[in-house]
Amino acid sequence: MPPMQHPMTSGAAPDNLGLAWRHRFASLGEAFHTRLAPMPLRDPYWVARSQSMARELGLEEDWWHSRQALDAFTGNHLPPGSQPLASVYSGHQFGVWAGQLGDGRAHLLGEVQAPDGQWWELQLKGSGLTPYSRMGDGRAVLRSSIREFLCSEAMHGLCIPTTRALCITGSDQPVRREEIETAAVVTRAAPSFIRFGHFEHFSHHGQPEALRALADFVIEHFYSECREAPNPYAALLTAVTQRTAALIAQWQAVGFMHGVMNTDNMSILGLTIDYGPFQFMDGFDPAHICNHSDHGGRYSYQRQPQIAHWNLFALGQALLPLIGEPDEAMAALEPYKNAFPAELDRRMAAKLGLAQANDGTRALVGELLKLMARERTDWTIFWRRLALHAAGAPADTVQDLFHDRAAIEHLLLRHKELTTIDGQATDANLMHHSSPTIVLRNYLAEQAIALAKQKDFRMVENLLAVLERPFDDHPQHADWAGFPPDWASHIQISCSS
Ligand code: AMP
Ligand code: MG
Repeated sequence: MPPMQHPMTSGAAPDNLGLAWRHRFASLGEAFHTRLAPMPLRDPYWVARSQSMARELGLEEDWWHSRQALDAFTGNHLPPGSQPLASVYSGHQFGVWAGQLGDGRAHLLGEVQAPDGQWWELQLKGSGLTPYSRMGDGRAVLRSSIREFLCSEAMHGLCIPTTRALCITGSDQPVRREEIETAAVVTRAAPSFIRFGHFEHFSHHGQPEALRALADFVIEHFYSECREAPNPYAALLTAVTQRTAALIAQWQAVGFMHGVMNTDNMSILGLTIDYGPFQFMDGFDPAHICNHSDHGGRYSYQRQPQIAHWNLFALGQALLPLIGEPDEAMAALEPYKNAFPAELDRRMAAKLGLAQANDGTRALVGELLKLMARERTDWTIFWRRLALHAAGAPADTVQDLFHDRAAIEHLLLRHKELTTIDGQATDANLMHHSSPTIVLRNYLAEQAIALAKQKDFRMVENLLAVLERPFDDHPQHADWAGFPPDWASHIQISCSS
């Protein structure tokens, strides 16, 4: 029987995505991974594709629109030059040592070089069983794949460090979760998918040579500035600490909650990684827990900064055999205590239109957050309206969000005073680019998922287009920038994916 012709295929399609491959992670050796092919999914179809990511990677247009691309990104037919593998890591889950985990449903294909010279690792997620699948089935469902795909690109649009997503392919192949769902594969891209948990794995399993090889690999390829330090491993820990502090400050400023900040979900590059039960804050509640499985609230909004520090401590412990002295590891973590608040203060001051934080911005932010928490003011809408007000919209634009009008009037006045005392004018442009008009709220993802389950993928596509430019106004989708519907507060997102 001749092969099926995909409708998007025009004539003879190239077999190659048109990029050079290399495999640096694979060359670390067998202790780090198992080479194996993804498991095919039957009759795949496109669910979503990021044209901007495809362009960034420099994928051949003909190939990207060919049947080969669909098969490649489902794991059915590997692009020539790729060498799939699953990596092994361990980690602490909910504060408890969980032992060996690893890529239980992901296959790293290798690295490709984009036209701008940058190398990207490409990884399929949901692509079948691996030696690290434990009790899992190696699959990902359509629902969680759409959430990961959209949020990766939304975070990139917000200029927050993240792994990227190229596409989702789907199949009608059933996958059992709480109910029967269908399978999907997300192709993710990042300079590296190495996690804190990779280091913990070799440290806890008494493999000091592998631990050193991994640290040397990460320093050589991603933290070369640490090479010349008196203690390169302590310098690495400090550099990761600084990147992580900056990342968490950006999460807090945009109201993002990750939901599962286990050490296996912490990127050594300080990227947001492994999107599960994440949420963007609706009405401001500092104690909000977005993960329905997180009964103790370990990963609530207000605890994220502390948890990141806890995770860095776990990384420090894993690196201890290389660093040498516990005191030196502790000293390497110390910068978090200043770096996180300094970065958060700077981000929050920017939301007030001021390039630099000072006692005045810190005090005003504190008062605003207290009022917002009392009234459960919508995070995204409040900050955006404040930016609009700075750009000339009437004060009612902001005041109408509050019951306690006197309180907000007073704080708006203080905002004005702050800029006059300080001599710095409020920079409306800075505010505009610090407070997005749209974020991927849970209800928007839920609506897109419900339609996608009916094979209508237009909302996924339209959301992607809007989330790629979150600081612009999108009049044709103005409702997506509005208040969430009442039912949004009843959405429960668990670890099930
Ligand atoms: P996550 O909660 O997605 O960060 O996953 C934690 C660990 O469980 C990782 O090692 C995953 O690879 C693994 N895992 C999650 N879901 C599955 C699945 N359906 N099949 C196999 N492994 C899985
Ligand atoms: Mg994970």
